[in-house]
Parts: sequence; C-alpha cells; structure tokens
Amino acid sequence: MLRMQGFTVQVARSPEEAVALYAAAPDAAFIAGGTDLLPEIKLGLSQPRTLVAIGTALPATVQDEGADLVLGAGLRLEQVAALGLPALSAAAAHVGSPQVRAAGTLGGNVMLSPRCMYYNQTPAWRASLGGCMRAEGPLCRVTGSAARCVATQCSDTLPALLVLGARLRLCSPAGTREVPLADLLRYDGMRPMDLAPGELLTHVILPRPAPGTRCRVDKLAARGSIDFPMLVTAVLLRLRGAVVEELRIAVGAVSPQPRLLPVDAWVGRPLHEAAVGELADLAWQKVRPVASVEGDVAWRREVARVTVRRALESLRAEA
Ligand SMILES: Cc1cc2nc3c(=O)[nH]c(=O)nc-3n(C[C@H](O)[C@H](O)[C@H](O)COP(=O)(O)OP(=O)(O)OC[C@H]3O[C@@H](n4cnc5c(N)ncnc54)[C@H](O)[C@@H]3O)c2cc1C
Repeated sequence: MLRMQGFTVQVARSPEEAVALYAAAPDAAFIAGGTDLLPEIKLGLSQPRTLVAIGTALPATVQDEGADLVLGAGLRLEQVAALGLPALSAAAAHVGSPQVRAAGTLGGNVMLSPRCMYYNQTPAWRASLGGCMRAEGPLCRVTGSAARCVATQCSDTLPALLVLGARLRLCSPAGTREVPLADLLRYDGMRPMDLAPGELLTHVILPRPAPGTRCRVDKLAARGSIDFPMLVTAVLLRLRGAVVEELRIAVGAVSPQPRLLPVDAWVGRPLHEAAVGELADLAWQKVRPVASVEGDVAWRREVARVTVRRALESLRAEA
C-alpha cells in the first residue's frame, strides 16, 4: 500500500486568498481535482506540507467577451467536453476516464506534471535504478545524462489550446498577468512552464476563431480510455476556396514541450494533395519523440505524419 505523508489542507475561497495561503506556507502545493497531485504524493514525488485547496476558489464559468471566450480554470474536464468548443472539447473528452474527467479540472490539465516511466514509480522502484534526476538524482535515466529532464508533457488539452492561440490569466501576490500559452511552455520536464512559484492559473482565454475555421485533435494511446497519450496532434485550418487562410498544427505528448509546427509558409497557398503530403512530412521531420513514455519513438514519429495527413484531408473535405 502506498501511504501519503501527512499534510494540512487550507481551503481558499478566492484566487487572491489561494495565492496568499500558498505564499505564507512553506512547501505548499495547489490542489484542484487532485487526480494528478495525489498519485504524485503517494509516490513520494511531491511532498507538500500544506495543500491549498483551490476547488472553491477558482471560477468555473464560461464568459463570452465578444472577441474572446474566457474559461474558468476550475471547470471540470467533463464540463469542458460538453461545451462543444472546437478542438478543446474533443481533447478534454479524451482525458482518462469518466471519473477522471468528473474530478479533474481544466487548470490541472494545463498545469499537469510531465510524466516519465522512470519517474512515475514508487521510491523502491526508482532506488533500484539509482534514482531519477527529477525525483532524487543524479541522472536522467532516459538520456543517461544530468543535462536536463526529458519527462513528457502528456496533457491532452495543451496542443488544442496551442492551435486555438490560448492565453493564460495568472494570479500571484504581485497581481494578475495574461500571457500567450505558447510563450510559457519550456523544453524542461522539471520546469515545463515559465511561471513564478505560487502563480495560480485562473482563466484560459480563447480568441474567437474566424468563421469557417475547422479543427481536429487526435490522440494516440495504448487503449481507448484511461491511458495517457503517446502522441497528440491538433490542427486548425481555414480555407478560402482551396487556399489556406489560417493554419496551425501542434504536437504534444512526445517531449517535455508541446509545440506548434512552423507552417506559416503554407498560408496563401492552395491545399492540394501535394501540400498535404508536404505538411505531413514536415510533421515527421519536426517531431522527435523522447523515450520517456511508452511507445516506440520511430513509430510515434511515423504516426504523427499519418495523423497530420488524415486531419488535413478530413478538414479539407469538410470545407
Ligand atoms: C487514471 C488516470 C488517467 C489519466 N489520464 C489522463 C489522460 O489521458 N490525459 C491527461 O491529460 N491527463 C490524464 N490524467 C491526469 C489528470 O487526471 C488530468 O490531467 C487532470 O486534468 C488534472 O486536473 P486536476 O484538477 O485533478 O489537477 P490536480 O491533480 O489537482 O493538479 C495537478 C497539478 O497542477 C497544479 N494545479 C492545478 N490547478 C492549478 C491552477 N489552477 N493553477 C496552478 N497550478 C494548478 C497542482 O498543483 C498540481 O501540480 C489521468 C489521471 C489518472 C489518475
């Protein structure tokens, strides 16, 4: 049986109170649905002495602000799945299982701790290999070096949020700031987002897509439910006739950093079959899966090519 270490729980009633409680407590952690944090505590990967419960502090609202749709970070994934939003609702519906989606929040999914087969293990398992750099050192067991941790960011929603151009609203004792998600993500399994300690995600802001925009997300996982992804692709496409007016392709669950592919050169060009093939090849060139989660890396790379091609073909056919 995995036992959790002792901790105190402090319940916050507002974002401001949550960040103040966090700042006042040594070794604190925010807990929303707890579906990821509690397993980490059980495995000794996170050892907070204070849990700041943010379930009642975070907004769980959907506000239409004209140019933007503002989603509260406290929305449960099952609620996000039911909103019928392009890309994001399908991505939320792919997470785990109905139980996980009923408890897990949008904010927790955005802030998900990167995963690794050498990290998400019991202390005894990790000790048998001499430890994992991120948990207790000294080396990353995937790369055999101490240069950096390459745990994979397996959040299902991040690629969808990237193609939608999402911004994050963050609250801290210093005030509130709003930053494009793409500017926060880092290629570092130990610090996957460029955030100050104790910054709280309160809202996810989605710019309204232009009319005629179509999106698709695909998830590769060992089973149809429960499993974390080995690859997520998200594609956003807007055509005028056959010509590309807007195109974004994001790939996640292959490395510490979900990324947008450099596809600007295809804007203004017709999306004929040859262009679809070129974009699928680009995905293959740019996607370099890391062996920190299950799934052969060469196979995941090849599947990236296939899912990008299929997504573009189906979006083109819809248009
Ligand atoms: C069986 C199982 C299967 C799963 N499958 C998937 C899957 O397929 N895909 C997937 O993406 N995830 C999966 N998960 C992981 C997890 O359930 C989801 O990512 C969920 O969205 C996490 O949300 P939460 O509210 O429970 O986060 P929590 O566990 O409460 O928090 C997760 C982390 O985010 C931080 N955090 C939470 N909210 C905020 C906030 N508002 N501001 C700042 N920091 C915050 C916490 O401090 C913690 O570090 C699975 C989990 C389980 C147990």
